Amino acid sequence: MALINENYLKLQAGYLFPEIGRRVREFVEANPDKKVIRMGIGDVTQPLVPEIIKAFHEGVEDMAKTETFKGYGPEQGYDFLREAIALNDYQNRGVDISADDIFVSDGSKCDTGNIQEIFGASNKIAICDPVYPVYADTTVMSGKTGVCQSNGYFDGIIYLPCNEANGFIPELPIERPDLIFLCYPNNPTGTVASKEELKKWVDYAKANKCIILYDAAYEAFITDDSIPRTIFEIEGAKEVALEFRSFSKTAGFTGTRCAYTIVPKELNAYDSNGNAFPVKQLWNRRQSTKFNGVSYPVQKAAAAIYTEEGKKQVKEVIAYYLENARIISASLKETGFTVFGGVNAPYVWVKTPGGISSWEFFDQLLNEANVVGTPGSGFGPSGEGYFRFSAFADRDNVLEAMARIKKLK
Ligand SMILES: *Cc1c(COP(=O)(O)O)cnc(C)c1O
Repeated sequence: MALINENYLKLQAGYLFPEIGRRVREFVEANPDKKVIRMGIGDVTQPLVPEIIKAFHEGVEDMAKTETFKGYGPEQGYDFLREAIALNDYQNRGVDISADDIFVSDGSKCDTGNIQEIFGASNKIAICDPVYPVYADTTVMSGKTGVCQSNGYFDGIIYLPCNEANGFIPELPIERPDLIFLCYPNNPTGTVASKEELKKWVDYAKANKCIILYDAAYEAFITDDSIPRTIFEIEGAKEVALEFRSFSKTAGFTGTRCAYTIVPKELNAYDSNGNAFPVKQLWNRRQSTKFNGVSYPVQKAAAAIYTEEGKKQVKEVIAYYLENARIISASLKETGFTVFGGVNAPYVWVKTPGGISSWEFFDQLLNEANVVGTPGSGFGPSGEGYFRFSAFADRDNVLEAMARIKKLK
């Protein structure tokens, strides 16, 4: 008899984005004359920049000629891309990471989920609340939790509430976790962590032999030089952290697929007898066995992000989204909302008006302003009473959405 992985049954039925999609579809069917503006799902809207497209084409042309054709590439990624990443994202910023510690992949969503399988099932996982839902869901799938309680928390996960009172940066937990997911700049709150705050977590991880799983998918949106762009800017982090990076939001690769994970050679985890093992060896074994690399033209395209022209063009797109975020934030403040994030991040996090629930506000906004956002409660119980606006939109749509919301009040 074929048995299912019953951990999947513990997951709540309605995943956030399908539910948003369902409500929007229903509304559009009932109101075909209304123009709905989507500021919900965290997907980019601007096309790949010309420098990237050029390299992408060259990669495809290489596949057409015997002399330059590529079959299977290295599972860890081509050296030309790993070296460009190490140099531009780390070494040139004074952070000593070598190409050898970089694992190129087809996405950070996959990496943040897959990483669980190289760690033992008895590990306790700490997760911020609210946050990107993938961390909790993959923890449940991997069998590290009990059932979901009525408050929305899974038994066995250590939740770290992030709220107005702590500035959306979690306090150190009372119960000791083994693995800690942190995500800054944060999805969904759009807030950032300072060097001091990250140092507190690195020191804690060192003292307790924990590992920090640091998701820096939005580092490209950091414009304030005092905010760390990588956890490896913090002294000692290489012994206690690995870092996920993605070209999805950085360079519009959500549909093209390319990301990377840094697993420093200094990072160890332990067997049940307390012997240290390099995490990098396990991740390398996992990737070499279950993954056959990112396609060559895509890696060529990704490497173009690091050329002089590529950097300039990508920066302009980021600036465009950041200006959207500024407009959203300023306009909602003017309308009377309490607003967080939106600086150094593409997300604006607002308190729902009059203390109504996140989904009530979603429906109100959809029905009365025909604007789609994301209910905060979909990112975790502490997101209830909040709402996320994404800056990944066309400028005209942002301006029109803000004008409609202003009229609502
Ligand atoms: C969008 C996003 C990612 C990127 O996922 P990809 O699979 O690389 O597209 C990773 N982490 C967070 C928090 C995100 O919001």
